[in-house]
Amino acid sequence: MTATETSVSSRRIEWQLAEVRDVVIETPRVKSLLLRPAGWPGHLPGQHVDIRLTAGDGYQAQRSYSIASPPEDELLALTVERVKDGEVAPYLLDELRAGDQLELRGPIGGYFVWTGAMFSPLCLIAGGAGVTPLMAMLRHRDRSSGRAPAVLMYSARSLEDVIYRDEIDAMARRDNSLRVVHALTREQPKGWMGHRGRIDKTLLAANCFPPSQNPAIYVCGPTAFVESVSGLLVELQFDPLNIKTERPDIGLAKIRCEACDCVSSVGSLALYAAPMGAVLHCADCESVLMRAVDTPHGLWLEMAGARCLKF
Ligand SMILES: Cc1cc2nc3c(=O)[nH]c(=O)nc-3n(C[C@H](O)[C@H](O)[C@H](O)COP(=O)(O)OP(=O)(O)OC[C@H]3O[C@@H](n4cnc5c(N)ncnc54)[C@H](O)[C@@H]3O)c2cc1C
Repeated sequence: MTATETSVSSRRIEWQLAEVRDVVIETPRVKSLLLRPAGWPGHLPGQHVDIRLTAGDGYQAQRSYSIASPPEDELLALTVERVKDGEVAPYLLDELRAGDQLELRGPIGGYFVWTGAMFSPLCLIAGGAGVTPLMAMLRHRDRSSGRAPAVLMYSARSLEDVIYRDEIDAMARRDNSLRVVHALTREQPKGWMGHRGRIDKTLLAANCFPPSQNPAIYVCGPTAFVESVSGLLVELQFDPLNIKTERPDIGLAKIRCEACDCVSSVGSLALYAAPMGAVLHCADCESVLMRAVDTPHGLWLEMAGARCLKF
């Protein structure tokens, strides 16, 4: 067992109850839940939690949600978007009320995180509700001294769909080291002077800090968005090692643990760097589900810890 695995296996994340303190309407399709967990160990901007719902007959459904609040805030904010025919999101959006309790565990994830301690310029690129973990980074940066210069490029269908719009605009107004670029893909208000359509190569080249400044780049949104943006960034000569991506919809792929039979969303699992590759652990029992090993003869994927993978 490597040093990385030893430290990981001693870090089991327990389920706990959180009280819903408030529900905030952000846009017609999105609400934020403000939660007070029973015991919160603190988190880093970019991490997420798992939410577990249990029906009267014992049926359970579990989903991941990025933390939108910065570590400094007293309450934990999760921002939930409505998806068509969803199982968990409609309950969180339509049924939950202040005073209710919710089962959650976290914080989870050590890869897609940003701490104010990194001083390279910060490039945040969001598609739709993918802005959530990036908002935790922006809010944390806003509360820090000695801020790294930052740009947020945010693609939304329309101005009405821009989550946290007033707060983001207010941050940019009082901080001239933060630039916000909106790209509205479907509908633009009359007289809109900003970008129309998707985030493209020209917009990225014009607004990201140049590759020579080694910006830390975080891209979050639907898979097609993330793949398009990260491909364009590589074409623009940004170092792929400086580009971190998160795709909330990749959670649709499920993996069953050979050791404990627990089923998890692949996207919700923590990926740990190990010598020569990476290791994916079961969030429930911490067994190794998959190992990716980079050898001189090619990339090997070892999946002995997984009973099955469903897309
Ligand atoms: C690390 C991580 C962080 C996440 N953070 C957030 C967050 O901050 N806010 C948030 O709203 N969601 C987030 N998600 C997605 C979330 O976990 C759920 O997948 C989502 O709320 C839908 O769950 P559901 O049970 O309602 O839908 P399901 O019953 O699982 O699916 C219903 C339908 O919706 C589609 N669908 C499911 N999820 C998505 C999606 N993300 N995008 C597009 N279509 C989808 C399915 O294909 C299906 O047709 C995150 C996922 C991961 C892995």
